[in-house]
Formats: sequence, C-alpha cells, structure tokens
Amino acid sequence: MSRIHIPESLRRLVTERANGRCEYCLLHQDDTPFTHPIDHVVALKHGGLTIAENLALACLECNLNKGTDLATFDPLTGELDRLYHPRQQSWEEHFALEGVRIVGLTMYGRATVRLLQFNTPARLAERELLRDNSRYPG
Ligand SMILES: [Zn+2]
Repeated sequence: MSRIHIPESLRRLVTERANGRCEYCLLHQDDTPFTHPIDHVVALKHGGLTIAENLALACLECNLNKGTDLATFDPLTGELDRLYHPRQQSWEEHFALEGVRIVGLTMYGRATVRLLQFNTPARLAERELLRDNSRYPG
C-alpha cells in the first residue's frame, strides 16, 4: 500500500500494462467501484522504488491485504517464503484457477494466496458472478 505520489504517466503505464486487471487476483478495475491502486511490489520502507519495474496494479483488497509485506509462511511447509513478484515472475507459473478459486502452485503462489486472502467466501462469490457474466476467467 502506498500513500506516495505516483506521476500520472507512470500510473497510466502500470494500468495499461496490466490491461486494467489486478496483477494478483485478476479482478478488472471496471468491475469494482474503485480505481485499482498502484502497488509497490517491494515497499518503499524495504528500499523499493517508484519505478515501473517495482509497480503493479492491485485491486484495493489485494493492496490492503499485502500492505508492505514481502513474505509470509507457506501454509504447506511452514517455511517463510517471499510473495509472488508480478514483475519478475509469471502468474501462470505460480497460480492456477480451479473454477474461480485461485490456488498456489509454488511456495510463492501459496504464500500469496494466503496473505492476500484470495479465496474468502465474498471474493469467490464476486468472481463467480463476474465469471458468469464473462468478466472473469475460470
Ligand atoms: Zn486483487
């Protein structure tokens, strides 16, 4: 989560690069009441910079759940693992959709599914509705 000013040109680049979708849970910003915030993948307090290579489009819920965190415990192994990095890793390699449920395929994926709380009942219900209207993959 970031309260720093991000230049409009950079904000536009990040949004267009992501095709308007949250780069974590794939929710499109046209399907939410809010414009998706810009996420510092590595938060400023950890030395992350406000540059295109460190920014990702994240829906409000993913952004709030992630906060400035970089890692959490893998629910499978109990190991402390880094979160998925949308600039350096590919979504398909670390996540898969089972219906509208997002599952983590790797330690990065599992850690991110857990911390960002991808599969709460409310988020699953929202995705189901969107999928039924061809607004969400799965
Ligand atoms: Zn999201």
